[in-house]
Amino acid sequence: MAKNLKLKIIPLGGLDEIGKNMTAIEYGNEIIVVDCGMSFPDDEMPGVDLVINDISYLEKNASKLKGVFLTHGHEDHIGGLPYFLKSINTTVYGTRLTIALVENKLKEHNLLSSVKVVNVRAGSVVSAGQYFKVEFIRTNHSIADSVALAINTPQGVVLHMGDFKIDSTPIVGDMIDLARLGELGKQGVLALLSDSTNAERPGYAMSERSVGENFENLFKNCKKRIIVATFASNVHRVQQIINAAAANGRKVAVSGRSMENIVEISVMLGYMKVPQGVLINIDSIGKYNPEQLVIITTGSQGEPMSALTRMAFSDHRKVEITKNDLVIISATPIPGNEKSVSAVINELFKIGAEVVYKALADVHVSGHACAEELKLILALVKPKYFIPVHGEHRHLVFHKNLAEKIGMAEEDIFILSNGSILEFDENGARISGAVHSGKILVDGLGVGDVGNIVLRDRKLLAQDGLIIVVATIDSKTGQLVSGPDIISRGFVYVMESEDIIEHVREVARESLEKCNKSGNSDWLTVKATVKNNISKYIYETTNRSPMILPILMDV
Ligand SMILES: [Zn+2]
Ligand SMILES: [Zn+2]
Repeated sequence: MAKNLKLKIIPLGGLDEIGKNMTAIEYGNEIIVVDCGMSFPDDEMPGVDLVINDISYLEKNASKLKGVFLTHGHEDHIGGLPYFLKSINTTVYGTRLTIALVENKLKEHNLLSSVKVVNVRAGSVVSAGQYFKVEFIRTNHSIADSVALAINTPQGVVLHMGDFKIDSTPIVGDMIDLARLGELGKQGVLALLSDSTNAERPGYAMSERSVGENFENLFKNCKKRIIVATFASNVHRVQQIINAAAANGRKVAVSGRSMENIVEISVMLGYMKVPQGVLINIDSIGKYNPEQLVIITTGSQGEPMSALTRMAFSDHRKVEITKNDLVIISATPIPGNEKSVSAVINELFKIGAEVVYKALADVHVSGHACAEELKLILALVKPKYFIPVHGEHRHLVFHKNLAEKIGMAEEDIFILSNGSILEFDENGARISGAVHSGKILVDGLGVGDVGNIVLRDRKLLAQDGLIIVVATIDSKTGQLVSGPDIISRGFVYVMESEDIIEHVREVARESLEKCNKSGNSDWLTVKATVKNNISKYIYETTNRSPMILPILMDV
């Protein structure tokens, strides 16, 4: 087989950020993609629903694509898939739970019948194209059925760890397949890509099981109704909540669409075991006393539309939180969500509910490996080259430092940026350039139609509001026929600021008349003059800079 061609690793997302993980691996005229995630918008993106990767490089090379391989079913790894598959049709490979979650998404986007998906069991190998053989290796993470991918290429093995931790007492399934990782290490691994999320945290991530013990303790002597918020995708966590409920004779109701979806899929596929009669419909919680109930809900991140947020702000149709509730928030806020989580917690305290969250008890553990685990993987795999992935820049640097601590040479570690091309041949590895990469914003049904200019306008509107000047002008004489009328939104409350609005109208009228007198009837100039004069007046009197929109009509 051609061994003289170059191997390229091209991260398209997930570096210097939390989210939208995606890596292209290219050899000769073939490409496979690992993961296809999304991320959530930040404060600089008002109105944006989600963010996906710019995949123009793959669109240009669509004929080379031999498949997308998924490490697990979290949104930051599969959330971009429907958008990807709308422009590039290729086969999607993943483990059973991952594929079930993907199918659920494809159904929502009407893609189910047009996309080929393949279930792969951890431990087996899939061929893609003539160059790639991809081995699925079991790992532990906060969602069941997570895998690492050992990608065999003619240049050597590229091992992508996906998201993982080392959990010797997992809730469902077996421990991460360290033995196989060790074997690969012995045979020789060319490049390791590994999860940097917790690289700055010393020690080991606690076992998921430790959370279960804490649930047991919290549930045991509780006489109140219990409401637990967690990530819907954390199947193990939900299982442990169900176990603790069942052990204490409580019924479990589920609230929030994604939570209902995941519980249904997981029970159906056997990833979750619910004892007979424990699950009840949320509509029938009225039939039970508070001490007989546990409600599992979405909203652990304080998301505005989520079930817990609605309950906290008395906006939920079926559940009202009272003093008689114990609310457990079994998650930590993802960076950026701290404020909304804190708002929900404060609201719950106002109601008088008892609230337990990470700062008060161990009701959450991370699904990502900490420093000691990361070092162990590096030591087992002994890669020739190491690429820290999945993290903000400092996480990548911390991970690099860990690799150096266990003896890797600095020049064999590559901190890449999204779009970088890391190229391998018989002479070694080097960054050889970059491909186009970036963010595509999704707002409603629009993909990519919100760009920098739209965002700038949205921010401006949010900061100082909008003033619209409407005037009708006789195009022959240039005379003002009607108006100018002033309409404003988000600037001042018009009813209480008639003076300002009247003055703005006066400034607009003067500007229009001046333009007419000076023979300046070109509409662009007229509009600019009106805009500048009003803008100047408003800034001088109010110190604000609303957006000003002159609309001229002619008769
Ligand atoms: Zn994950
Ligand atoms: Zn992830």
